[in-house]
Amino acid sequence: MKFDKLLKSGKKLICDGAMGTQLIERGLGAGECPELWNIEKPEMIKAIHSAYIEAGAQMIITNTFGGNLPKLKNYNLQDKADVINRKAVEIALAASSGRAAVLGGIGPTGQFLEPLGTYSKEEFREIFHRQSKSLADAGAEAIIIETMTDVNELAAAVEAAVSTKLPVAASMSFAKDINRDDYHTIMGVDVKTFVNRAEECGAGIICVNCGTGPQDILKIVERIIALTSLPVMAEPNAGLPQYKNGQTFYRQSPEEFASEAALIFKAGALIVGGCCGTTPEHIRKLSVLLNK
Ligand SMILES: [Zn+2]
Repeated sequence: MKFDKLLKSGKKLICDGAMGTQLIERGLGAGECPELWNIEKPEMIKAIHSAYIEAGAQMIITNTFGGNLPKLKNYNLQDKADVINRKAVEIALAASSGRAAVLGGIGPTGQFLEPLGTYSKEEFREIFHRQSKSLADAGAEAIIIETMTDVNELAAAVEAAVSTKLPVAASMSFAKDINRDDYHTIMGVDVKTFVNRAEECGAGIICVNCGTGPQDILKIVERIIALTSLPVMAEPNAGLPQYKNGQTFYRQSPEEFASEAALIFKAGALIVGGCCGTTPEHIRKLSVLLNK
């Protein structure tokens, strides 16, 4: 399905939900590289995409969140970067078979820019350029840069992705400030800085994902909409995180998630999907509410 056409249809659009949660449910072990499944268990990835499309998602995001060189290096898979990203797009296109637009997903490197870390801005841009190119060459219809917390890393990724000529959605993750009605990323970036920088770098869609549940995402979306005339997208988690035995869980029910996420559409967002803890059932309930 053509991404541009979808965007111009004037209709509110549903994106898919979490990939990670679904992989774990299907047996991905701790310490395993989620993106390696694009090569080793492509039928599993295809089944997850299909479940989201059947639940009503009009766009799906490839299983390439950690498909950049520094992340793949953790698993000694850096030499497979290109094939891992290409395969992911092929699987998503096959699952879609024209039913949903395929967005190539890009996440953070897990590394810091100088002077905090050892990477230069040029190195970051080259890392994101390579991943964007693999995704674009394989047929992704747009690129989404997600879960960023450092605005300079976001900028490097957006600039690299824009050079593929595909539409680019730029997304950062915010948390609510303690005792204040404001939001910052864990690297201290505020909403205005994010929106301005994403626009400057050529992003076509401004997005917020992860970090928090639909209630806070709604407030962040309201702020974004006041700052930009670009289309706005949101992928909230299934509620606030809960911690048990050193692990993080998201437990908001599909019904509750959908009723809260529907308000994000009401506030003016064009696209809403789900992040951590969301399942095809969360997306199905949201889709039903939207199309009521
Ligand atoms: Zn998330």
